[in-house]
Amino acid sequence: MQSRWSDAEAQGLTGLDLLVYQSRLIGAEPALVLWGGGNTSLKVAEEDFRGREVKVLRVKGSGSDLRTAKASDFPGVRLEDVLPLFERQDMADEEMVDYLAHCLLGPGSLRPSIETLLHAFLPQASVAHTHADAILSLTNTRNPQEGLQRVYGNDVAVVAYRRPGFLLSKEVAQAALRHPSARGVVLLNHGLVTWGSTPKASYDAHIQLVTQAEEYVQKRAAGRVVFGPTRHAPLPPEERRQVAAAVAPGLRGLLSPPASGRLLLQFDDCAEVHAFAGSKRARELSELGAATPDHLLSTKRTPLLVDVADPSNIGDLLRALEEGVHQYAEAYAGWFRSHRRGQEEMRDAFPRVVLVPGLGMWAAGRDARAIQVVSDIYHHTIAIMAGAQAVDEYATLTLEDAYDAEYWPLELYKLTLLPPEKELSRRVALVTGAARGIGRAIARRFVQEGAHVVLADINEEGVRAAAEEMTAEHGAGRCFGLPLDVTSPQAVAAAFQQAVLAFGGLDILVSNAGVAPAGTLDQLELGQWKQSLAVNATGHFLVGREAVRIMRRQGLGGSLVFVATKNATTPGRGFGAYSAAKAAEVQLARVLAVENGSYGIRSNVINPDAVFQESGLWSQQLKEERAQAHGVPASELEEFYRKRNLLQVYITPRDVAEVALFLASDRSAKTTGSMLPVDGGLPEAFPR
Ligand code: ZN
Repeated sequence: MQSRWSDAEAQGLTGLDLLVYQSRLIGAEPALVLWGGGNTSLKVAEEDFRGREVKVLRVKGSGSDLRTAKASDFPGVRLEDVLPLFERQDMADEEMVDYLAHCLLGPGSLRPSIETLLHAFLPQASVAHTHADAILSLTNTRNPQEGLQRVYGNDVAVVAYRRPGFLLSKEVAQAALRHPSARGVVLLNHGLVTWGSTPKASYDAHIQLVTQAEEYVQKRAAGRVVFGPTRHAPLPPEERRQVAAAVAPGLRGLLSPPASGRLLLQFDDCAEVHAFAGSKRARELSELGAATPDHLLSTKRTPLLVDVADPSNIGDLLRALEEGVHQYAEAYAGWFRSHRRGQEEMRDAFPRVVLVPGLGMWAAGRDARAIQVVSDIYHHTIAIMAGAQAVDEYATLTLEDAYDAEYWPLELYKLTLLPPEKELSRRVALVTGAARGIGRAIARRFVQEGAHVVLADINEEGVRAAAEEMTAEHGAGRCFGLPLDVTSPQAVAAAFQQAVLAFGGLDILVSNAGVAPAGTLDQLELGQWKQSLAVNATGHFLVGREAVRIMRRQGLGGSLVFVATKNATTPGRGFGAYSAAKAAEVQLARVLAVENGSYGIRSNVINPDAVFQESGLWSQQLKEERAQAHGVPASELEEFYRKRNLLQVYITPRDVAEVALFLASDRSAKTTGSMLPVDGGLPEAFPR
């Protein structure tokens, strides 16, 4: 492992700033820590609120992440108050948390890490602790002492597995005391602790010890088939994607019963996944369990591995997945019942990782971030297992230790720090015509409300820019843009396939893409007529058809929202091709409501009128033509439309987006087949 330390960058940094610098270097290395794992500290002299100098431990706060560390992530703990605890025999977790709250230098700081005492009890100024892959490959074996002895001789102290807390902290300090020449302490099935007089010293020791482990593992792995012979060669890439897209909605439905909420699924078929999942040892190894306690909360103890003779047989695979999910949930509930200690409530009983040899892996979570955590952790779990198999045979926490890790209140506390869920959290939406105007406003509104959104538009550049803007605002993975010509069945199928591979299914369709050819029917070219029907009628049919196919397979209901127009009920002069096709769209939406009500799929129509802002529909030519049709100058067209409605208001894309949110969400759970105008009130266009 390469040291990332740069004296030039660190120059001039002291105290807390230097700790932040060191922490970020550790956080930048996924083979050391992942997603909030690991912790660092520095003992410094600071002034308290009365100006008295006190010795303070600056230590990572619970729930923060070394990768993005900042000064406020490191609460100060008064050492004078903490150190006497070393004399105690034991201390309950809750008491320890309470006690540490009293030791905080600043009121309102983050809760200090659950491993705070481990840092406090070691006398050195700087302490670094990680869950490095290579260390776990050494410790997660049947005979860890042997491997550790070979790699480190007597250079490290070793502490047996124990759940983090008071006793582990004390044992680490005692081990270091007994072994004054040690460069670090290895915690079995957990990780590594190093120290030094400066952040650089503890960092260097860490990198050196991890590098020694890596080199040993690599040497042992050379020429070995670590997971045994291949049982399932991967299907060809295109076939994998087709099969995965066909079964993902069904799998998502199985993992998303109403009681525990929907999960999103991301398909992953990279080479490392195939090498593991397709191997002879995959089932046995995957069932041994997670590599280190803090992984359990994200990935559960084990993945679900579903093995079928022919993974390209969609029917067989779906049946096997159903059976597999059922068995997994029963086994999880049994494990929970037999280890339950008090009043803990069972978390949902479903896997977060699903492996299908020959096909790939799904990572499941409540949102894109959770999925990324699961995916990253499982990729590293595979690497850790590979290392352990190279050294010896993978072994990990007992069922009981795993239970205590997953149901440890202090670890569950981290879940309470997650942002609250929003109205469209756990929902997947696809919006057509999303590069501009109404479609873009709807996509943005849905992303704001927590949905994961696929933005589609024939304007590829525009739709990618729109998605990037929303990603910058709301975080990676929440949406993406793709090119889509809604008149092409192949393009529509491919777009929905991408959506399903990225998010696992579909809950909401907003069919919005449209064109507006103008001209009186006596003059209209056949080509213009055909184009309007292709986009404004057939396009809605193609996306609506694809959406209900996915929603039916998923079995979780769904909402279809069709953006039509006031012209559907009140046709306008010189707008025949548009009005006729839009009337077909409305009737299509109603038939979709009729045909899919028994699946819990709702279908509704929005009729906006005269939405000019950011519009892709209103070209200058169209404005002039409509102005002529209404007998007003083009410059006064917007004002003409405003004055014509009862409320005398301009209609904006945001106004339409609010109504789309209503129809997409459970607020309108009992409304289907309806038509809702967003036109400021036009009596001639009242739905009837
Ligand atoms: Zn740890």
